[in-house]
Amino acid sequence: MGTQVADSLAFDVAIIGAGIAGGALALALTGEGLSIALVEAREVQQPALPTQWSVRHFDPRVSALAPRSRALLDQLGVWETIAAYRSCNYHHMTVWDAEGTGQIEFDRSEVDTPALGTVVENRAIVGALIERACAAGDIHVFSQTALASITRVSSGHMALALHGGGALQADLVVAADGALSPVRGMMDFRTREWDYGHRGVVATVQVERPHEATAWQRFLPGGPLALLPLPGTERKHFCSIVWSMQEERADEVLSFDDTAFCDALGRASEWRLGDVVDSSQRLSFPLRQRHAVDYVQAGIALVGDAAHTIHPLAGQGINLGLLDVAALAREVLRGTRQGVRPGQLELLRRYQRQRKAENLLMMSAMDGFKRLFEQESLPLRWLRNTGMRAVDQMLPLKQRLMQYAMGLR
Ligand SMILES: Cc1cc2nc3c(=O)[nH]c(=O)nc-3n(C[C@H](O)[C@H](O)[C@H](O)COP(=O)(O)OP(=O)(O)OC[C@H]3O[C@@H](n4cnc5c(N)ncnc54)[C@H](O)[C@@H]3O)c2cc1C
Repeated sequence: MGTQVADSLAFDVAIIGAGIAGGALALALTGEGLSIALVEAREVQQPALPTQWSVRHFDPRVSALAPRSRALLDQLGVWETIAAYRSCNYHHMTVWDAEGTGQIEFDRSEVDTPALGTVVENRAIVGALIERACAAGDIHVFSQTALASITRVSSGHMALALHGGGALQADLVVAADGALSPVRGMMDFRTREWDYGHRGVVATVQVERPHEATAWQRFLPGGPLALLPLPGTERKHFCSIVWSMQEERADEVLSFDDTAFCDALGRASEWRLGDVVDSSQRLSFPLRQRHAVDYVQAGIALVGDAAHTIHPLAGQGINLGLLDVAALAREVLRGTRQGVRPGQLELLRRYQRQRKAENLLMMSAMDGFKRLFEQESLPLRWLRNTGMRAVDQMLPLKQRLMQYAMGLR
C-alpha cells in the first residue's frame, strides 16, 4: 500500500492502464517490497462465467497467445482462472494466397509443442489479472479513475493528478494505457507511424463445419483475413475474425446486414469452414503501425501498445507487450534488490535496449509481409506463390518461423 505524502499517496510504481500489459506488470512486480498503484479509467471487474453459446456471448476482442505468453500468465498465477473461463488451443495453421496456389501449413508436430497458441477472450485475461491484483496487499487498484496529468517534481518523483480530484506520487510511472497512450502524449514521447489506410473488421462468427483447432489466414488483394478458432460445442463452431481491408471497402462491409455479411465472409474465406451461419455485431479498428522513438525517460516507461502497435495480421500485439512486461519487471526487481530506485534512467534504458530492437524487427517483418501480399503484378504473384510452396517443403525454415512466432526464439 502507498504512504501518505502531503495531500497525495506515494507509491514506488504507478501503472496507468489495467489492460493485459498493465495488469500483468502489476502482478510481475508484486511481493518484492514495492508499493504499486494500478490506475484504470474503466470499471474493472471479473466477467461472469459464460453459460450460453452464441456469437453474441463472446468478447469481440480476443488474443492468440503464444506459448511463451501463456507461460508468463501461468507464472503470474492466473492461467488456471483464464482456462476455467474458456479458451481454445490451436494445433495447426493454414495460410493461403487468394491470387494463386500458394499455401503453407504449420503443425504442432513440426515443433514438438502441445499447441501453437491459445485463443482467449481479452475480458477473461484482464478479469483474471485484476482479480489477483485486487487480492495482493501491495497493489492498490484505482478503478474508474482516469489519469488527468503528470508533472515531474523537484525530488525526481512524478506527481499524478487523477480525474475526480485524487493525487498520487510515484518514483516510476509506467504507461500501459494503450495505443493512444495519454501518458505518451503528456510526456512528449515521439512516435513513428505508418497509416495503412486500412481498417480491421472484427466479429465473432458461427461456421458450419468444425474449425479443426486451426488458425486460418487468407491473403486477399485488399488485405489479410484471419479466422481464429474459439471454443464451442459439438454442434456449434465459432471463430473470431479479423478482416483487414481498405477504408472504402470497410464502410461497405460494415453497412451489410447479418446475411449479406455472412455471405461476403463465406466467399472471402472460400467456404473453408462451410457457410458462415451467424455473426455478432461488427466492430472496426483503424490499422496503424506505430512505434515510440524512445520507450523511457527518467521516471517513465512505456509498455505494450503504448510503446508499439503492430499490424494484427500475425496476432503478435499483446505477445510483444507481455515480453515488454517481463523485461521491465526483471530490470526493476533486479534494481530493487541492489537498492536502485525503479525510476532510475539507466535501469530503464536497460529495459529499452532489450525490447526496442526486437519489437522493431517483428513490426518490420509484418509490414513486409503485408506489402508483399498486396502486390498484384504477375511476376510478384508468381514469386509469392512459388515461395509459399517452397517454404511449405522446407521443414527447418518452417520450424524457425514457428518458433519465432511462438516466442520460443
Ligand atoms: C483487430 C485487432 C486484433 C488483435 N488480435 C490480436 C491477437 O490475436 N493477438 C495479440 O497478441 N494481439 C492482438 N491484437 C493487439 C492487442 O489487442 C493489443 O496489443 C493489446 O490489447 C494491447 O494491450 P495493452 O494492455 O497494451 O493496451 P490496452 O488493451 O489498450 O489497455 C489500455 C488500458 O489503459 C486504460 N487507459 C487509457 N487511458 C487511461 C487513463 N488516462 N487513465 C487510466 N487508464 C487509462 C484503458 O481503459 C485500457 O484498459 C489485436 C488488435 C486489434 C486491433
